[in-house]
Amino acid sequence: MGPLKLSKFISESEIEKRIKEMGAQLSDRFKGKEVIAVCVLNGSFVFYSDLIRAMDTDVVCDFFGCSSYGNSMKSSGQVKLTTDLTTHVEDKHVVLIEDIIDTGLTMSYLQKMLKIRNPKSLTTVTLLHKPDAKKVDCEIDIVGFEIPNEFVVGYGLDYQGMYRNLPYIAQVQNMN
Ligand code: 5GP
Repeated sequence: MGPLKLSKFISESEIEKRIKEMGAQLSDRFKGKEVIAVCVLNGSFVFYSDLIRAMDTDVVCDFFGCSSYGNSMKSSGQVKLTTDLTTHVEDKHVVLIEDIIDTGLTMSYLQKMLKIRNPKSLTTVTLLHKPDAKKVDCEIDIVGFEIPNEFVVGYGLDYQGMYRNLPYIAQVQNMN
């Protein structure tokens, strides 16, 4: 599939197990409360759809469209909001759900965008975190897996629009 040479890095069963744990953590935190679960498009849609189904509480779904990578393997350093939320988050519990935190630019930008709208609480969740790539500080409440500073694809994450449908996370071997 596609032009890249890949090696499996995080398997389907490891992802499934970790998402159950993260869902349980969120269910405990928001027991009996309504939350607005915000998906950061495009990369988070697969993780998001699994995570919200692992949350045992009332969930309203909403979406931020965001881009910073274009077609390359390096962040452009410029975050662009392509779609805004359709719900009002003021006085609501908001859970912001990202696929991966690399430089932290996207997350810190989205956190600022949400905080000025005065939510009751803001909880930040990411499936993957590359601590060694961090350039900007942002608060992260729940991390699925910490990974090395290498480009990964699959489970929603793409390279040039491809590989999002891989059911596992893979590292790219023939990167230049
Ligand atoms: P940041 O703003 O933290 O540098 O990057 C966040 C966004 O960059 C993520 O939402 C994701 O779309 C993209 N990204 C960062 N690292 C990777 C990676 O290793 N693989 C892929 N496919 N996308 C990445």
